[in-house]
Amino acid sequence: MADPPNRPIRTIAIDGPAGAGKSTIGLGLAKHLGFLYFDTGVMYRAVTLAALQRQIAPDDEDAVSQLAENVLIEVLPPRVDDGRQYTVRLDGQDVTWAIRRPDVDAAVSVVSAFPRVRQAMVAQQRRIARDGNLVMVGRDIGTVVMPDADLKIYLDASLEARAWRRYRELESRGTPSSYADVLTSMKQRDELDLSRATSPLRPAPDAFIVDCTHMDADETLARVIALVAEQNAARPGTQAQPAGVAVAPENDR
Ligand code: C5P
Repeated sequence: MADPPNRPIRTIAIDGPAGAGKSTIGLGLAKHLGFLYFDTGVMYRAVTLAALQRQIAPDDEDAVSQLAENVLIEVLPPRVDDGRQYTVRLDGQDVTWAIRRPDVDAAVSVVSAFPRVRQAMVAQQRRIARDGNLVMVGRDIGTVVMPDADLKIYLDASLEARAWRRYRELESRGTPSSYADVLTSMKQRDELDLSRATSPLRPAPDAFIVDCTHMDADETLARVIALVAEQNAARPGTQAQPAGVAVAPENDR
């Protein structure tokens, strides 16, 4: 393997299954480092919602692919104070919460398995990643979108732990579902994400696996921040960073 470059980490990929806590940890890490945070799952969710709104069957590969190639998805800083991490717009319409609906959950893995959908999304994601200083979260970031990422993390947890977290999240948002339904939907999504032919969910060979089944969000974030500090300290020419100390980005966005 080539030696790491003579500068601090600038690009971080976080992959893992649904409900592992990627968005909480990704956002917390990005804030800590002063990096941009980008959650690629929202793009696949927005395409899925666009199909549902237009009454296009999620398994109609041609129609969904064409839609993905033409729809305008924008991910912007939050403008409304309602607990959102960012604002997602679909052809100008605020869909930040609509993309979290159970019908989107149920169809998104079918939509995201289509190669043309992935191609359209990955091209946009690579453009966003070009400037560095970012934490990008998804399923194929370390393997496909940013195979040269400075640090790759695969965040995992047991199916039951993930379903329980998602169940509580839905409840706190006032859209309760039964735990059994959440578990079944998550299991189906896992199976589709793991078995699809194009960019299946799997850790990159050089990813650090973090299993957070028995860790809460604060513990997991502390673990990941410590990992960044350790990896920065191991890079030649970069100053050792004690765990928990922010690494200044090279330039502000
Ligand atoms: O991360 P989130 O649960 O919001 O992602 C929704 C779905 O989008 C995933 O289940 C997966 O099918 C798809 N996805 C993907 N590749 C990514 C991010 C998400 O296929 N990079």
